[in-house]
Amino acid sequence: MGKRAIYPGSFDPITNGHLDIIDRSSKIFDEIIVGVLNNRQKNPLFSVDERVSMIKGLVGKYPNVSVDSFDGLLIDYAKEISASIIIRGLRAISDFEYELQIAQTNRVESGNLDTIFLTTSLNYSYLSSTIVKEFASYGADISKFVPPEVVPLIEQKYKKQ
Ligand code: ADP
Repeated sequence: MGKRAIYPGSFDPITNGHLDIIDRSSKIFDEIIVGVLNNRQKNPLFSVDERVSMIKGLVGKYPNVSVDSFDGLLIDYAKEISASIIIRGLRAISDFEYELQIAQTNRVESGNLDTIFLTTSLNYSYLSSTIVKEFASYGADISKFVPPEVVPLIEQKYKKQ
């Protein structure tokens, strides 16, 4: 059986930084499932369904990448889909402490699950969904941060508000 990995996140919205991680992961692992977290505590810009369909439209060129959503604990979802690897991206030292804590907790809870970190490409190290939303909310140009298909979807959200 091939190595199945899950790349979990909020992806609200997906950025070029996320896509870079997906592109690189697709060459390392046999199968990647992009897992969109249905996080009810946060107040997302895009619904989970919107995020899933947005990402599906962008990863069609990768035969080994699929997109799904999940609720609740990542380790439970990973078990459900028989994934043995969690992929996370590391941007700056500020990501490190939180990511290490989560990865270690997940390992204590589920010994078969390992987290693998890919360091961000330098040109995306500053990029986060939060920053993209902040810029878009002021009508700034976000075309360098997200794929062209996603730009109008974000702009549309802020037009309504
Ligand atoms: P979460 O709410 O789980 O942090 P995000 O959608 O913000 O979800 O991020 C999902 C994953 O993608 C995280 O591992 C995050 O570190 C990574 N990531 C986000 N932006 C970038 C980027 N610019 N470069 C590399 N990895 C990134």
